[in-house]
Amino acid sequence: MELAQKLLSSLFPSRCILCQQTVQKPAVNQSIEICLDCYQALPHNDSCCVQCALPLPEDIENGVTCGRCIKNRPLFDYSHSLFRYEDEVIKLIHQLKFGEKISYARSIGEMLFVMFENELLPEQEKPDCIIPVPLHDKRLRQRGYNQSTEIARIIAKKTAIPIAHDAVVRRRNTMTQTGLKAKERQNNIKGAFDIVDVKNYKHVLIIDDVVTTGSTINELARALKLDGVERVGVLSIARAPVKT
Ligand SMILES: [Zn+2]
Ligand SMILES: [Zn+2]
Repeated sequence: MELAQKLLSSLFPSRCILCQQTVQKPAVNQSIEICLDCYQALPHNDSCCVQCALPLPEDIENGVTCGRCIKNRPLFDYSHSLFRYEDEVIKLIHQLKFGEKISYARSIGEMLFVMFENELLPEQEKPDCIIPVPLHDKRLRQRGYNQSTEIARIIAKKTAIPIAHDAVVRRRNTMTQTGLKAKERQNNIKGAFDIVDVKNYKHVLIIDDVVTTGSTINELARALKLDGVERVGVLSIARAPVKT
């Protein structure tokens, strides 16, 4: 860390965005404004499906593929989610999306970067570009920012992987996916993405905030692969357990 920044943080120690206390021991690194206690208490998604990151019971062994992926193989090749979409994580993401807490993107992006570095990179080639799941223009104007893009910026900066801002657009303003069943989500999202230009990218990393049934990222992966992308991975803040 630069000297000036070090000095600043010792003069003005940051406050934990979860418990509002002064951060004595930061989680993982200085750039994350979450204290170690709060970080450890978050629902980390440690036991999950090896392909879609669906939360699985804690006692399940590593490397298991869930029943849904066996039945219907997803079009993306791998997916990692930092947390389960529960408790404090729901609040954190709501604040980021609807509470104008755009500043939270930095801490969240830093946490995702740590995961990217530890879990994704050792296993495979570095992706050629990052694509944040696009919002429809109308929603982007309402909110003023795309939370996934804000997170992607942090990861892009730290990994030197470019963000392909203009590669994909969201063609239809789909109904909100909230409250829809898995099958309804799939139909609702069909054809929602239009590929503008994926250049000669072969390996794309999608960044999303919350993956629920996976129908959005699956549809985006379908569009990308139809346009010649060979490998599609996903990194998200949280993955929801699927309701049946
Ligand atoms: Zn805290
Ligand atoms: Zn799965």
